[in-house]
Amino acid sequence: MLSYKDKANLPAPTAPGFSAWLTDAQQRLDRLAHTPGTSLGDLEIAVVEDLHRLGASLLAQAAHLQGQATPFLCSRCQGPLVREARNQVRKVDSVVGPLHLGRDYGWCQKCQDWSHPADVRWGLQPNAPASPRVQEMAAEAVLKMPCAQAEKSLPRLGGCSLSSTTLHREAARQGQRALALQAADQHRATTVPGVVQLASQAAPPQKPFVLILELDAWNIRERTDWGRTKTLRKRGKEPERWHWVYTATIFRLDQRGHTAAKRPVITERGFVATRAGLEAFERLVYAEALRRGLTKAAEVLVIADGAIWIWNLVENRFRRATQRVDLYHVKQHLWSVARELYDQDTAQARQWLRPLFRQLKTKSNGGQQVLGALQELLRNKENMTPAQREELAKQIGYFTTHAHRMNYASGKRNQQPLGSGAIESTCRQYQVRFKRSGQFWSLAGDEALLALETLRRNERWSLLFPHASRQPAVATQAGG
Ligand SMILES: [Zn+2]
Repeated sequence: MLSYKDKANLPAPTAPGFSAWLTDAQQRLDRLAHTPGTSLGDLEIAVVEDLHRLGASLLAQAAHLQGQATPFLCSRCQGPLVREARNQVRKVDSVVGPLHLGRDYGWCQKCQDWSHPADVRWGLQPNAPASPRVQEMAAEAVLKMPCAQAEKSLPRLGGCSLSSTTLHREAARQGQRALALQAADQHRATTVPGVVQLASQAAPPQKPFVLILELDAWNIRERTDWGRTKTLRKRGKEPERWHWVYTATIFRLDQRGHTAAKRPVITERGFVATRAGLEAFERLVYAEALRRGLTKAAEVLVIADGAIWIWNLVENRFRRATQRVDLYHVKQHLWSVARELYDQDTAQARQWLRPLFRQLKTKSNGGQQVLGALQELLRNKENMTPAQREELAKQIGYFTTHAHRMNYASGKRNQQPLGSGAIESTCRQYQVRFKRSGQFWSLAGDEALLALETLRRNERWSLLFPHASRQPAVATQAGG
């Protein structure tokens, strides 16, 4: 960005010479149409280029008008400004190429700071090298694919041409903005007015509803010792570490339905993902749950696997919630006993498991009944090997800890999910982007990108890109 001392003088953009542009474009297309070997694709590319040339001129003019129409007031206190310079030039990359914007700036006595009112109106943060649409495109592209790939794909998809350096820098900048919003949420979760404000974002319910929270974690590989690779390798250490990404999804039971093909879908849901540790995660889950109606829910249900950190978090923050341990995981624990008892014989293992699975799913105290059966087995079964005893004792421990969370009969009766499939698929989706083979993220970089991805999933994209709330989310389908 130019410093405030720059006194570049930018002439006001003039109206595009439309008839000259039209003649020029038509001549070019005419030549192309008569060139052997060209296809409709070549014409398409030429038309888009022509439109961009016209667009660049139209955009420059409209942006100038927008800047002129902005009251010359301090953008913080709305007080008067002492005009310091006129028409200072700022260059940004726009969807139709580089754009030179001239604007006035001034000094606010009250705030003791410079103010560029037109920049605020345009949605250009200080030092932002790209227009709001280009910022958004860069952020969206980098969430979908690595920068080098996005550099090639964007023009092919009809987007503007951006270097991988620009893409990386822009996505990182947007990630930092997303992180700032996330930090504000964390802060809200710790203050009474903040909690009230978050809770007020949940619409008043039409009828009583169940709020479901599903929690899980996955890990991400990071290179944490930049510049020390050789030293570490000499010592036989790889310069990377795995870090936990704590992840949650939150939705209302009545927001869960099925597609025509009977696939389960959740129409509205919240997401949390962070690798900034459990305390940060706990505050973020609480904030998102408040937004999704925590204080208005008739019942709160938490579903997860047996990881102890999850249930500690639930005791801390969601004490009145019904707790449910994922049915599939519970079955796996029983399977590992069965495999130990009937090593070679899967048919026998199945036969032993069948009544236990039935108890789990149909009895209101199914977990307790299965626990009793395992304890009885340990007491009464003769000729057990030490390995069998050990496995049985281990799973008795698991059932002792979690039996009260195996409320599948009531879950089934109330048409609630018995497993944590929703969070497992959420984790898989995050991993597609964050766990590519050979992909390394820096400690700060991946948290920023996680925050950006989560903001998009939570449909709060327009907090970063206000214009996004005005553009149609889905293009109209072409007829035919
Ligand atoms: Zn001010």
